[in-house]
Amino acid sequence: MSKVVKFGGSSLADAKQFKKVADIIRADSERVYVVPSAPGKRFSDDTKVTDLLYQCYERTLTGEDFAKAFQPVRERFDGIIAELGLSLSLEEEYVKIGTDFRNGANRDYAASRGEYLNGIILADYLGYKFVDAAKGIFFDNKGNFDSDITNACLGAILEKTPKAVIPGFYGAMPDGSIKTFSRGGSDFTGSVVAKAAGASLYENWTDVSGFLVADPRIVDKPEGIEVITYSELRELSYMGAGVLHEDAIFPVRSANIPINIKNTNAPDDAGTLIVPSAKNAPAKYLITGIAGKKDFSVISIEKDRMNSEKGFMRRMLQVLENHGIFPEHMPTGIDTVSVVVNSHELDGQREKLAQRLKEVARPDHFEIIDGLALIAVVGRGMKSAKGTATRVFAALSHADINIRMIDQGSSELNIIVGIDEKDFEKAIRVIYDMFILSEQGEK
Ligand code: ASP
Repeated sequence: MSKVVKFGGSSLADAKQFKKVADIIRADSERVYVVPSAPGKRFSDDTKVTDLLYQCYERTLTGEDFAKAFQPVRERFDGIIAELGLSLSLEEEYVKIGTDFRNGANRDYAASRGEYLNGIILADYLGYKFVDAAKGIFFDNKGNFDSDITNACLGAILEKTPKAVIPGFYGAMPDGSIKTFSRGGSDFTGSVVAKAAGASLYENWTDVSGFLVADPRIVDKPEGIEVITYSELRELSYMGAGVLHEDAIFPVRSANIPINIKNTNAPDDAGTLIVPSAKNAPAKYLITGIAGKKDFSVISIEKDRMNSEKGFMRRMLQVLENHGIFPEHMPTGIDTVSVVVNSHELDGQREKLAQRLKEVARPDHFEIIDGLALIAVVGRGMKSAKGTATRVFAALSHADINIRMIDQGSSELNIIVGIDEKDFEKAIRVIYDMFILSEQGEK
């Protein structure tokens, strides 16, 4: 059985971190495919190598000499090589990158060199084979990730390569040029490699010990999440819980491979295990996580006998679509509909949109209300338990927080409440206390 291990930028920021990474890999002989990010920040106001590369690219565009613009990148890599005591030299690679720049290589190519060069160093240090992601990870002509071709090609390469380092973040277009995924995309590469290798586990090593039940900036020392399902994670990530790239779950999810989020700086912590289904994962608490976001607006429309007017909703949604607005939630009453949208989507078109909606809907009352926060209370345990919603509402009402919108997903996996932005932090705290602190007391 093989495991794919992906290490984020902070896990590979300098030689000291490289040593920790090598110890982790050597501690388990199943850790055979390694996906590195580019070196990240060593201290809080340091610059990630990927950002240095974007800067280098911009500087050469404005006419600066490549060698000079590339110097900060070179220093980072040469420093790591020297401190690790490797006899490796990247000189030829630097020359080739310079030539490619002069021949008009694109911005993605520039950014991808962070993972590429870091992969070469890590492969040398571990004694693993280096496999360039451009040889096995592919995009189609439209620039979309091509899962079928990638799976076939990368799968064939890995079958012949028992131990390999495959750099994260990029792949190749059909014409051979380099394209990157969006920022943080090495998480996605790790997932793609795990699927192609038919791995038993995808370990994603970072600088935190997994997901927490709530944001630690809001709740004091929140509990960690030990096990979460893919569906729960989707709901929480959508509402702002970071750690893993949004798209990273899709390749492994389709292959039923679990992901384990682990901490390079505390490797003995269990981290969070993300599993395909809840079957073998009894929930520790009734809820798994709480996440939320501010900056929503409600477009509120009231009209007598709205429900008997055929095509009313369709016309309204068409207006929103024409303005490029995506409705997040749409609670309706008999004579009312409220559309919850991201406030920033209204920027620059608020008046025009209001006018158009009024023309189409001819409402009795129309209003756009800003300052709404949404909170998602997510948990696979709530499907089989009664009274989850009651407890959420009770917690909020005891704290004197007015609920302005309620939405329960049809999968009974989450309850979403809309509240005033000023109550956001307090609401998260009281929901946490209601479900986690009180249940801790019972355990
Ligand atoms: N190095 C890239 C970034 O900084 C990709 C990654 O780290 O996943 O976004």
